[in-house]
Amino acid sequence: MARDYYGILGVSSSATEQEIKKAYRSLARKYHPDVNPSEEAAEKFKEVSTAYEVLTDPEKRRIVDMGGDPLAQGGQPGPGAGGFAGGGLGDIFEAFFGGGAASRGPRSRVQPGNDALLRLDISLEDAYAGVRREVTVDTAILCDRCEGSGSESKAQAVTCERCHGMGEVQEVQRSFLGNVMTTRECSVCHGYGEIIQDPCHKCDGEGRVRSRRDLTVAVPAGISSGMRIRMSGAGEVGHGGGPAGDLHVEVTTREHPVFEREGDDLHLTLRVPMVDAALGTAVTIQGLDGTERELTIAPGTQPAARLRLEEAGMPHLRREGYGDMLAHIDVVVPTDLDERTRSLLTEVREHCRDSAKVQRSDDAEEGLFSRLRNKFRK
Ligand SMILES: [Zn+2]
Ligand SMILES: [Zn+2]
Repeated sequence: MARDYYGILGVSSSATEQEIKKAYRSLARKYHPDVNPSEEAAEKFKEVSTAYEVLTDPEKRRIVDMGGDPLAQGGQPGPGAGGFAGGGLGDIFEAFFGGGAASRGPRSRVQPGNDALLRLDISLEDAYAGVRREVTVDTAILCDRCEGSGSESKAQAVTCERCHGMGEVQEVQRSFLGNVMTTRECSVCHGYGEIIQDPCHKCDGEGRVRSRRDLTVAVPAGISSGMRIRMSGAGEVGHGGGPAGDLHVEVTTREHPVFEREGDDLHLTLRVPMVDAALGTAVTIQGLDGTERELTIAPGTQPAARLRLEEAGMPHLRREGYGDMLAHIDVVVPTDLDERTRSLLTEVREHCRDSAKVQRSDDAEEGLFSRLRNKFRK
């Protein structure tokens, strides 16, 4: 369904470009992320900026007036596609396939901003509990001197004389294919078709300035390494004060000295002395939330046994519950025996009369590492 771009800006469908600009400026002042840091405001700012971008582009506005949505089928310029880029594949096709005479018209002065990517390193404890991190990003923000208009005074931009407002100029070039008509961006107005007579002293007519911005990233509990958090509207403000792109925060968790994460389960290796494995014991394990849990080693626990502590793993992301904690038992055989221990063990041996047996490998208990390996392969 077509979005109501006029409604978003609160103007009638017969509004002049001036009225649209005025409505946009007043809404942008209200919702701009630098003024209003809430998430709803960021969404609103994006919406308002998109509506402005659409309604100030004659071709897009025409589509709206016919009841369509110019952004409905991927018609929106993607991150990086607009902005500073001039020329591109289109020019090459036009040059060689005769479309050179076709005009695309001037580019809107208001361009959507680029997305930005930020990497954030956190501990497994932070991934467990969730964390808020203050970060500083190098970005482009709205110029506060001209509020994005790029103009020092209230004077209107004038039509570029070089391209007569088309934003592009056509040239005939000789090439190995004969004469071809190329269309290139007008170098005087940089494709905008109009020239700001008295560019803003602060931003040189860009409508935005480079700046460092402090942001708080809310990392949700249970996040996995490699996941990205999207902060809507926290990317760069576009040319002419256009809608800001998004900031993507890619989270990496550092290796933990004890736990290895697999899904929402936490694995650890527990080295149990031979005698404890035979007689049974209990050990306490500190979970990532700091609470200690008791793990029972039953009498006769075998090497490579795997014990499970339910719900002691990572919290599930954005839903109830936790994964499990899995302790992989490694039975430790004593070396360096003193006299007393040697004699006690000898006594045990004489009492048990157990001896080594030969059997086929695949009947034997799977070793710890082949178990782990098989598990990770799945
Ligand atoms: Zn400015
Ligand atoms: Zn021009």
